[in-house]
Amino acid sequence: MTTGTTPGFVCSHHHLYSALVRGMPAPPQTPTNFLEILEQVWWRVDAALDLEMLEWSAKLGALEALKSGTTAIVDHHESPNAIEGSLSVIADACAEVGVRAICSYGITDRHGPDGATAGLAENERFIKDGGRGMVGIHAAFTCEQSTIDATVGLAEDLDVGVHVHVAEGFTDAGSGAALARRSKENWLLVHGVHLPDGLSFAGMMAHNPRSNMNNSVGYADPKRFGGRVVLGTDGIGADMLDEFRLAFVKLREDNVTSTPQTPWNWLENGWMLVPEAESDEVTWNYPIMDPWHLAYTTGVHPLDITVDGKKVLDNGVTTKVDEAEVRAKAAEQAKRLFAKL
Ligand SMILES: [Zn+2]
Repeated sequence: MTTGTTPGFVCSHHHLYSALVRGMPAPPQTPTNFLEILEQVWWRVDAALDLEMLEWSAKLGALEALKSGTTAIVDHHESPNAIEGSLSVIADACAEVGVRAICSYGITDRHGPDGATAGLAENERFIKDGGRGMVGIHAAFTCEQSTIDATVGLAEDLDVGVHVHVAEGFTDAGSGAALARRSKENWLLVHGVHLPDGLSFAGMMAHNPRSNMNNSVGYADPKRFGGRVVLGTDGIGADMLDEFRLAFVKLREDNVTSTPQTPWNWLENGWMLVPEAESDEVTWNYPIMDPWHLAYTTGVHPLDITVDGKKVLDNGVTTKVDEAEVRAKAAEQAKRLFAKL
């Protein structure tokens, strides 16, 4: 077989706990807009999570990332009834599979001031213990101003960036824009769908085309953000070639003169967030790993992957964990999660 190689790809915005959610019971009512999707799906799910579910969702999500050629994940996490220790559980699970991770806990006032304080403390604990992280905020529209100020202050004290959803839906348009204006070079903003044209922000903007279409929130039109765009999945797997193809056709739908080089640049910008992934080596079952080929070629899979000089995928088989075991344990945890819902 003729093969091609690339560095490891970066999923620049993920929610690993989503790995368990596929096939969940339908919500009590069909959500009719983005806020109702949050209320009836995601905020019921995150409230039901415990540390055991987190461990196996993260292992499954990391395994599926690796099997797609993604060697680094920037995760954004919330589990309001299992906050303390959650980021370590996720980081350890990724390390066990052999995937690099940057973790953050999404602080919010949705569960009162104690919830916000506990979220802040978890970010601080994890990063001070040597964990690789950013300080997370869910989104400005679910936080009091004092909570946002405290979070921004903590990130500055720890010398890390803030990882936050901004202006994903109309609900967060104004508050998201206000937060984006405060951003610094080490921040990771996510979505930016409803940010006004020409808004000046610092740091990177994660574009998640599949998620935006799935939630019907509109098109972020990421060309507006210049060279600051990275690609994420927002929790729907971590297959970055797939997300690249989707980013391309969405861009093309908007403007037929667009070329795949633009979303390819967004994919490669992930190495600004996780530079080491660029030294990981992925061997693919397809010889020509260039944007014009990959935009129109489906079914391209990694055969071998080396991370930090160690082989973590050998002829399609994970070397550090047993895939069948991870899938079986994750399925058990999904069953527990669905029962709680
Ligand atoms: Zn997200």
